[in-house]
Amino acid sequence: MAAVDFSEPFDVVVAGGGNAALCAAITASRAGARVIVVEAAPAFYRGGNTRHTRNLRCAHDGTAPTMTGPYAEAEFLDDLFRVTGGQTDETLAKLTIMRSTELIGWLGQQGVRFQPPLGGTLSLGKTNAFFLGGGRGELNALYRQAEALGVTVVYDTPVTALTIEDGFFNSAAVTHEGRERSIRGRALVAACGGFEANIDWLKEYWGAPADNFLIRGTPYNRGDVLRMLLDAGVAPVGDPTQCHAVAIDARAPKFDGGIATRLDSVVFGIMVNRAADRFYDEGEDTWPKRYAIWGRLIAQQPEQIAYSIIDSRSIRLFMPSIFPAVVAQSIGELAVKLDLDPSALERTVEEFNVAVRPGTFDHTVLDDCRTEGLAIPKSHWARTIGEPPFYAYPLRPGITFTYLGVRVNSGARMLLKDGKPSANMYAAGEIMAGNVLGKGYLAGIGMTIGTVFGRIAGEGAAVHAHN
Ligand SMILES: Cc1cc2nc3c(=O)[nH]c(=O)nc-3n(C[C@H](O)[C@H](O)[C@H](O)COP(=O)(O)OP(=O)(O)OC[C@H]3O[C@@H](n4cnc5c(N)ncnc54)[C@H](O)[C@@H]3O)c2cc1C
Repeated sequence: MAAVDFSEPFDVVVAGGGNAALCAAITASRAGARVIVVEAAPAFYRGGNTRHTRNLRCAHDGTAPTMTGPYAEAEFLDDLFRVTGGQTDETLAKLTIMRSTELIGWLGQQGVRFQPPLGGTLSLGKTNAFFLGGGRGELNALYRQAEALGVTVVYDTPVTALTIEDGFFNSAAVTHEGRERSIRGRALVAACGGFEANIDWLKEYWGAPADNFLIRGTPYNRGDVLRMLLDAGVAPVGDPTQCHAVAIDARAPKFDGGIATRLDSVVFGIMVNRAADRFYDEGEDTWPKRYAIWGRLIAQQPEQIAYSIIDSRSIRLFMPSIFPAVVAQSIGELAVKLDLDPSALERTVEEFNVAVRPGTFDHTVLDDCRTEGLAIPKSHWARTIGEPPFYAYPLRPGITFTYLGVRVNSGARMLLKDGKPSANMYAAGEIMAGNVLGKGYLAGIGMTIGTVFGRIAGEGAAVHAHN
């Protein structure tokens, strides 16, 4: 790669190298700006959590070949209100949804390809378009497009400091090829994700248990740029103590385990902690409505670990983790393999089995299979755990993203603590998603927010640079 000339200011400095960053860079470049993308990760790991994604959510009229439909804007907004409990900036939410209608066409023009509508059990065929080749396929297309447009991309180049005066961006300090460099720019687009990979920051809210959290995505989203912006007077948005946490296979790597380590076996059996005790109703509601509470529940258990125990009748009812289940012919043997007290696990399973009432098992509805008389009931899909072989998966909290971000207006411009918009600082993607997603989650909306606001930020930054 030719050496990069840092002596002249760029029109637009884009910090980050995921979906939001690339959408901003492409848009700014198409608007005539001289753009640099500054990515902390090496080229192979470029693209942050976007690498792990599969789809994005779009309102559409039913004619899109990538989704069954239609999915009206009003329905999308209802869904967003439901999951956030109203914790959303309504103006930005409506803007996101309105502009989501353009995304399939726009991404297609950048070379991104989509799969035919999804069938099967995820029930997302109507609302979400799936990338052909997943998030990596999407990113590869966007990087190709950016490079073809002449965008400068530097890898392995973390932003280490920002020079900001009264909410006005001047330059970014970076480490590039082992040297400290300064990149001057007329406008900044911050698209650096959340702080989910920063265990010390997570510990500020979770204490020591955060050491046992697994991070589902990139180790590079440490929130350094987010912290710099907040320290420089940008207004925060989103609850700093909250993160999206699901139950993932405890054998997953510390970072970047991605989607293949998620486990959906919980509703089919019982969940126990290190003491072999159950600790929550595994059948409280359908899995899509409850999967996101289990990360937090496990975080509250001793050593932040739990075990999903099922028998042979359930082993084929869910998508397995990439790691094989622990198998045994008896509950006692299973306990030994999991390093649990065998008599304690046998007692818990026995008490559960005795409490199971007869019913008609149907995991596609809230069925009438439930327990009676247990302090912690199982409200649906309760079947005895009695048919060997028995299976178990160890589970830990898997952190997807954090909610704290920077406040923006509908031009993607960062708002300062006094409420005024910054003259030349824009944000897109996870770093500002808390404006739209105050709590909860709606599958595919992360990429929608990033693409919509990436485009808006890129446009705004390019216009500013030319004025
Ligand atoms: C396993 C998994 C599956 C997911 N699946 C989906 C899905 O199917 N659909 C969906 O909508 N959402 C999904 N999400 C959420 C989704 O990943 C995010 O909403 C989206 O990718 C955010 O894009 P982004 O560009 O804001 O951040 P990212 O893609 O995370 O990019 C952030 C970038 O900033 C860089 N960076 C960080 N710090 C610095 C620094 N100091 N200097 C320079 N660069 C820096 C990182 O290296 C990275 O390139 C998933 C998340 C995970 C973890």
